[in-house]
Amino acid sequence: MAMELDLSKFVDDVPKTYTKFRIPSAFYLFGQRYEVKWRDDLCDKEEAVGQSIYREQRIDLQKNNVIVTRKPSQIENTFLHELIHCIFWELREDELRPNEKLV
Ligand SMILES: [Zn+2]
Repeated sequence: MAMELDLSKFVDDVPKTYTKFRIPSAFYLFGQRYEVKWRDDLCDKEEAVGQSIYREQRIDLQKNNVIVTRKPSQIENTFLHELIHCIFWELREDELRPNEKLV
């Protein structure tokens, strides 16, 4: 007999102290210090909402403003996407790093 999984049980188990993921202003990756820079002009100048500047160990993110407004979850996804590019950079995985489908 197949057992049905009661998902409501898991929903109730979510801790009440759950806190949102926060994008750090700086972080360490394999001992390298990376900075996160919020830019007003990224969409405009680079046609991107996020960008990794590997040689300067920096992730640029588009700041919300009157022209560009994105949900926190979308901004977090962009940060994580750029972080994965940076991880591959640090690992010298130069074939995987530009693979947008994977990243
Ligand atoms: Zn990418």
